[in-house]
Amino acid sequence: MRRALVVGNWKMNGTRDSISELLRALVPAVSHGINGVDIVVCPPSPYLTVVADAIKGCEIVLGAQNAWCENGGAYTGEVAPGMLVDCRARYVILGHSERRQQLAETDELIAQKFVAAQREGLIPILCVGETLAQRDDGHAEATVSGQINAVLTVAGVAAFERAIIAYEPVWAIGTGCSASAQEAQQMHAFIRTLIAGHDEEVAGAVQLLYGGSVNPGNAAELFEQADIDGGLVGGASLDAAAFIEICNSVS
Ligand code: 13P
Repeated sequence: MRRALVVGNWKMNGTRDSISELLRALVPAVSHGINGVDIVVCPPSPYLTVVADAIKGCEIVLGAQNAWCENGGAYTGEVAPGMLVDCRARYVILGHSERRQQLAETDELIAQKFVAAQREGLIPILCVGETLAQRDDGHAEATVSGQINAVLTVAGVAAFERAIIAYEPVWAIGTGCSASAQEAQQMHAFIRTLIAGHDEEVAGAVQLLYGGSVNPGNAAELFEQADIDGGLVGGASLDAAAFIEICNSVS
């Protein structure tokens, strides 16, 4: 039985004040967990320790939004996975489409980051997903399988015993236009079958999250799909009431 997981990706938003305010609402509401749902929040790196202190003793777990593929050295501006662990992060988002598109991150770099993150004990949340043009051209599955295969080749299927995959169609991110539950389920089933081609047990256990305009109105239908184990939530995770409602939508 896979546990449900809801991850809030705060992206490049917030100040110390606004984050404290968000957590003042979130922490009491979820301090004992919600329906057995695991809850992770991923603040911008400068606020990791602020958030780590604020969630101490409650069921919320800390994640980061990115890490470099080496654990130290002359990489100005980058953050080492070990530093994230030192700041008490347990998860790290890798391969987000915003970084793939705006920072030209390649499948190969993301695979290296994945390996480096796991080496330091972090659980990678590997983001995959197609653009609208790729979907319209009938290349959605080929795109997603290429993104996953790049990591499988370098890390091996056993690495997915300690990783999460988030399917985030690029056209659904920040657009208010989520994939339908059926479209999302179809891709999630495809991803699970892809992993099963390497190892059925790993495929049965790996948590697959859907991301892209998840909100309190569509979360329940998305989360009740057989292969959707939770969500990676952007905009709505900055609103405590909406995020709590989304977490409560796991049946
Ligand atoms: P939105 O929920 O704002 O569409 O963002 C999704 C996302 O990119 C989460 O990583």
